[in-house]
Amino acid sequence: MVDFRLGEEQEALRTSVRDFAQEQVAPVIGEHYEHKTFPYDLVRQMGKMGLFGLPFPEEVGGMGGDYFALCIALEELARVDSSIAVTLEAGVSLGIMPIYRFGSPEQKDRWLPQLTSGEGLAAFGLTEPGSGSDAAAITTRAVLDESTGEWVINGAKAFITNSGTDITRLVTVMAATGTNPDGSKELSTIIVPAGTPGFSVAPGYSKVGWCASDTHELSFDDVRVPAANLLGARGRGFAQFLRILDEGRIAIAALSVGLAQGCVDESVKYAGERVAFGRPIGNYQAIQFMIADMELRAHTARLGYYDAAARMLAGEDFKRYAAIAKLNASNAAMENSRWATQVHGGYGFMNESPVGRFYRDAKILEVGEGTSEVQRMLIARGLGL
Ligand SMILES: Cc1cc2nc3c(=O)[nH]c(=O)nc-3n(C[C@H](O)[C@H](O)[C@H](O)COP(=O)(O)OP(=O)(O)OC[C@H]3O[C@@H](n4cnc5c(N)ncnc54)[C@H](O)[C@@H]3O)c2cc1C
Repeated sequence: MVDFRLGEEQEALRTSVRDFAQEQVAPVIGEHYEHKTFPYDLVRQMGKMGLFGLPFPEEVGGMGGDYFALCIALEELARVDSSIAVTLEAGVSLGIMPIYRFGSPEQKDRWLPQLTSGEGLAAFGLTEPGSGSDAAAITTRAVLDESTGEWVINGAKAFITNSGTDITRLVTVMAATGTNPDGSKELSTIIVPAGTPGFSVAPGYSKVGWCASDTHELSFDDVRVPAANLLGARGRGFAQFLRILDEGRIAIAALSVGLAQGCVDESVKYAGERVAFGRPIGNYQAIQFMIADMELRAHTARLGYYDAAARMLAGEDFKRYAAIAKLNASNAAMENSRWATQVHGGYGFMNESPVGRFYRDAKILEVGEGTSEVQRMLIARGLGL
């Protein structure tokens, strides 16, 4: 029989992340959200717990777990707060993973220990002001200066998570490095360390949600880095980013499920406490049905990401299933945040209420790491259309 229950170690991980989220994150995150401050102390604690190293082997400073372990942690964090969850998601699946998967032994030695320990953060620079879904349309360019043995990078990136914190160590930048024989752009990935001259970070965006996470526009003005900062082979940039995004969609699905489940948790609690017309509102079937539907969405979306992660870890082609998991889970998060806010009435519209934050944080899940339309394209493509 197929079994979707977690093993002992996975349950222990879930419990420890859940305790951390409830005891450490919940009491302080509203303040960070309100003032748009980055929760350095929580990130440091997550580093100590080993969360940034979850899916990496011990030789590179990791915890020896797998991608599914990361997803379990993301779900439990997002059940309480999404800013902290996306800081871990982007830090690991977008930040560290490209170096782990495609880096040279020297690049891994230099960067992985400080990243897997959570001491430093890495960011993923794909999106640009003029290109998101159509990632191949990027205009950032890198030219190899043969005389000095350096890449010279010019261009801009938009909406880059974890790119401007005090502990940001590097950004992996996708750039056009030439032209392929068929006339298309040759795309490659280059590591740009934080603080490299000519690399500037704009002030943080004013965002609708994820207000305690770090997001910036970046610009590159004749930025020079050694030729050895090329990540993997020249011309492989697009394939690398696609692989990273396919995996990342499972992680975003897990984060979405966490938000959807957080809506259930908060609604069940509130429905038992809030009295209207002489009875707790949880006695009314209209409220019960709203919450039952939320639980249905969270549970079925969870099965979707478990399945996609299992296929990925079995080494199968998981692209279509990652897209299904992300599309379905982000829908569940959106719907649940809408109904959880309804259950909470006016209190749900207040920023200090967790469901107010869930409502604001849900929308980006239908956009980041591939919009819902892009997921549908991938599913249709997987069906041969
Ligand atoms: C808070 C935040 C954090 C982010 N973090 C990162 C990060 O760390 N690194 C990074 O590289 N990027 C990051 N992004 C960027 C994110 O991945 C993009 O916003 C997303 O991929 C969509 O791209 P876009 O915003 O350019 O929208 P567009 O691609 O311009 O899309 C606009 C609309 O058109 C639709 N559309 C586009 N093409 C088609 C088509 N062919 N058919 C039908 N519909 C279509 C889209 O689905 C969407 O509805 C982040 C974004 C945000 C907001």
